[in-house]
Amino acid sequence: MSARTPATPERAALHQFIAKHHKFLLTTHINPDGDAIGSEVAFARLLRALGKSVRVLNDSPTPHAFAWLGAEAPVEVYTEELAETRFAEADALVVLDTGNKQRIGRLADHIQRHAIAVAVVDHHVTHDGFGSVNVIEPSAAAAAVLVHELMLEAGVAIDAVAADALFVGLATDTGHFRYSNTDARALRMAADLVERGVDAADVTARIHQTAPAGRLRFFGEALAALEMRHGGQLVVLEVGPEQFAKHGLIGADTEGLVDMPRAIEGVEAVALFSEVEAGKVKVSLRSTGRVNIDGVVSRLGGGGHPHAAGVQLRGSRAQARERILPELERLLAELPPLAPGTAAGGQRA
Ligand code: 5GP
Ligand code: MN
Repeated sequence: MSARTPATPERAALHQFIAKHHKFLLTTHINPDGDAIGSEVAFARLLRALGKSVRVLNDSPTPHAFAWLGAEAPVEVYTEELAETRFAEADALVVLDTGNKQRIGRLADHIQRHAIAVAVVDHHVTHDGFGSVNVIEPSAAAAAVLVHELMLEAGVAIDAVAADALFVGLATDTGHFRYSNTDARALRMAADLVERGVDAADVTARIHQTAPAGRLRFFGEALAALEMRHGGQLVVLEVGPEQFAKHGLIGADTEGLVDMPRAIEGVEAVALFSEVEAGKVKVSLRSTGRVNIDGVVSRLGGGGHPHAAGVQLRGSRAQARERILPELERLLAELPPLAPGTAAGGQRA
């Protein structure tokens, strides 16, 4: 395949960054999702196609649903010793799908110690651009969209592993082409990947037909206790450490839970307070389209997209609610009434 002209000066700088370095370490945010793992695996293929050596190391384990992607491009999980080795070996770090340095978890400390060159490829709105090269494009539906375009620009082959990985990133971040970030660019990318041999139904089944029964019971418990607030515009969900323990689950197992109440007519926003360990609460917010909720968490050190954002807070669930819900309700109070017959609508990004 022939190379294309890089779409922006930052992308040109990233291609130069790749050319200049040889031993790459890739990472992404804690509790990685499909876009995080998919972008890493595809970026690893890009680098290998260019003759680079590549390791992938994350703070958190890969969720079961995406583990098959790592079969040909192993994704390692943090230990202090492994991180020391990987940082010492590498001359460059590429961080994917991550808006700020803290979000890479325990790897963040190693950056200072090793004075490694850092590049960022991301699509979050809230960003501190912590790389020496930063390809940050919030208009992209997924980080995988950027990796796909970077591969085309680099002129490397998109093999079956890369194509599946890119499809996983794109499909999961667009809620399987249902959220408002599903633009023509995302659909063209999906078509390109299907033309390259991706079996969309098979990939979707691999991602979504892997849940243990306990996960559905856990969702059932959480959904049975959902609270409707603010005249039915706000749904609040809570899960606690005893529920994770009872069903043998980890934090990443809440994936998808916060999205479900979006199906309720009239809902504008959803808040999930997920306390995996006592005293550590992960807040996930969603909007069905009319309110931008990223500001509610960015003022507390979190971030994300206008219609899907999150933050980790210390303290109890009650304290977390106190810091989030009044601000969310204030935003909802500012909404103009909907014209009769129109549904609250378009969802994410
Ligand atoms: P989720 O609620 O599914 O974990 O995340 C929704 C979106 O918000 C994702 O784009 C994610 O990257 C972002 N996000 C979630 N938690 C945090 C956080 O603690 N800090 C930041 N900066 N972004 C977050
Ligand atoms: Mn993403």
